[in-house]
Amino acid sequence: MPTDPDCVFCKIVAGEIPCHKLFEDEHVLAFLDVNPLSEGHALVIPKQHYATLDAVPADTAAAIGAALPALAHAVLNATDATDYNILQNNGAPAGQDVFHVHFHLIPRQPGTDRQDATPGHGLPARPWPAQKVDHEKAAALAERIRGAIGS
Ligand code: 5GP
Ligand code: ZN
Repeated sequence: MPTDPDCVFCKIVAGEIPCHKLFEDEHVLAFLDVNPLSEGHALVIPKQHYATLDAVPADTAAAIGAALPALAHAVLNATDATDYNILQNNGAPAGQDVFHVHFHLIPRQPGTDRQDATPGHGLPARPWPAQKVDHEKAAALAERIRGAIGS
């Protein structure tokens, strides 16, 4: 099993660092984030150490995919939240601090505006710096990506 002795999440999997555990199976561990954006902010991780999502094998990815909806259901049932974000950062420029793959499940406090950045209210959302698509470039890009799938 790939592990990294310096990785905080590998230490949580090994029980060397405590956590508020929510769920566990063969491939996956879920626990509360130690610095929550809102009540119920949870992390879902593979038990094995992979730095970013593109490195995760299909069976582990499938287990994460199965755990996320079940955990979302449980967090909504156990809190006042009815809305939430799933956030997954890969690479330091993309906001990743812990280099062991993890999915954030971040409940949104009921009644808050999507841009509300008050601590405890969840993840502030749009405006994003979106642009208009260039369809000619998009068609060529989609062809390159399709050709790279499975490579
Ligand atoms: P990232 O910025 O890499 O997407 O998110 C890392 C997350 O891991 C942060 O939200 C941070 O609060 C959380 N975290 C870091 N160290 C620990 C820890 O020791 N225990 C728990 N439960 N969460 C942690
Ligand atoms: Zn790790």
